[in-house]
Amino acid sequence: MTSNLEILQQQDPDVYAALKGEEQRQKSGIELIPSENYTFPEVLSTLGSVFTNKYSEGYPGRRYYGGQEYTDQIETLARDRAKAVFKCEHANVQPLSGSAMNQAVYLGLLEPGDTILAMDLSHGGHLTHGAPVSHMGKLFNFVRYVTNPVDGSIDYDQVRKDALEHKPKMVLCGYTSYPRDIDYAKFKAIADEVGAITMTDASHFGGLVAGEAMANPFDFGFDVVTTTTHKSLRGPRGGMVLCKKEFASKIDKSVFPGLQGGPHMNAVAGIAVTLKRAQTQEFKDYAEQVLVNSKTLANELMQRQASLVTGGTDNHMMVVDTMESYGLDGRVAEETLDKVNITTNKQIIPDDPLPPLRPSGIRIGTPAATARGMGEADMKQLGEWIDRCLRSPEDEAVIGEIQGAVETFCKKFPVPGL
Ligand SMILES: *Cc1c(COP(=O)(O)O)cnc(C)c1O
Repeated sequence: MTSNLEILQQQDPDVYAALKGEEQRQKSGIELIPSENYTFPEVLSTLGSVFTNKYSEGYPGRRYYGGQEYTDQIETLARDRAKAVFKCEHANVQPLSGSAMNQAVYLGLLEPGDTILAMDLSHGGHLTHGAPVSHMGKLFNFVRYVTNPVDGSIDYDQVRKDALEHKPKMVLCGYTSYPRDIDYAKFKAIADEVGAITMTDASHFGGLVAGEAMANPFDFGFDVVTTTTHKSLRGPRGGMVLCKKEFASKIDKSVFPGLQGGPHMNAVAGIAVTLKRAQTQEFKDYAEQVLVNSKTLANELMQRQASLVTGGTDNHMMVVDTMESYGLDGRVAEETLDKVNITTNKQIIPDDPLPPLRPSGIRIGTPAATARGMGEADMKQLGEWIDRCLRSPEDEAVIGEIQGAVETFCKKFPVPGL
């Protein structure tokens, strides 16, 4: 029998060649973008499955199309597993991605024009946390808190002052570029003082909460937690809204029919199998190792005199001030590391004097490298390579030597699913 991949090769050699190229790229480089990961082999199977053929508007037991025997089974499994893993009362697993999941929460629980207190994009928040260029930033009145200039951490006194002054309907924490943990108790106390709904966008660290390596906002009485499913959780591309029962009906109506049509049931099947994995000891060990690796890599870079925003990390990522450390802007640093197949991303740092496409730093994270089985000794090796590259961006001999070493190194770490 001809396999689906063989059919692709015959039908569309161009797309097939790009797919093979991407496979090779993922094998032969070290992925250090903190929001990326390698998903599980069984997730790749569900994504390429017949569930992609099916329309399932509605929710299990209440659909607008027939033939939902099996889609109901997988969506129910995904929801139940999400509730067990995140210790919450309700889960919606239909959001098509992270941005849609956040939009569904704002639009479902608030009215246009309402005030939301959230982290400023330039200090580590996400576009969907009210950046002026985003549609949500135009629709809602976002008040944005910044980090404190002394140590780069969230300034809870300032967050409280902002809350008392602006009386937000929602207090939102969570980040896309912030190397520290969140004090949920403080956020919850501030929100309670002004009667605001509490929301955490755990998109980056959802897998670390699932693996019990980082704190769970629900343990502190939070109302809503959102997370992407494809970052540290290692599932398919998608999003989930997790919440208390009292918000369940508003959230479900907001996702469908409020914001979306048919859910991607192939992705929902992928979320179900990911959440089964997340309940294993192996996944807990993985989540723990992501953090150990992150600390090890950060320490190695700092021993080599690199300057890290906040002076270290408590989570899966670090932000290197490459301008201060190496006299290189983030774009040049990213491009230099690209030459040796180490993938990072340029990143604005708090109060960055440089523009977003040529910012002062890069962001580095360990979820993908850890998924390939890399440990502490490997992180020290990576730290050495990164530091040497960024000290000698023009030195062809150094770049060539490290590129060769990275190639040999990668052969020791098979990519999951390939
Ligand atoms: C990645 C991310 C999102 C958006 O996810 P997409 O799937 O890219 O739409 C939302 N919030 C935070 C904090 C993120 O890091």
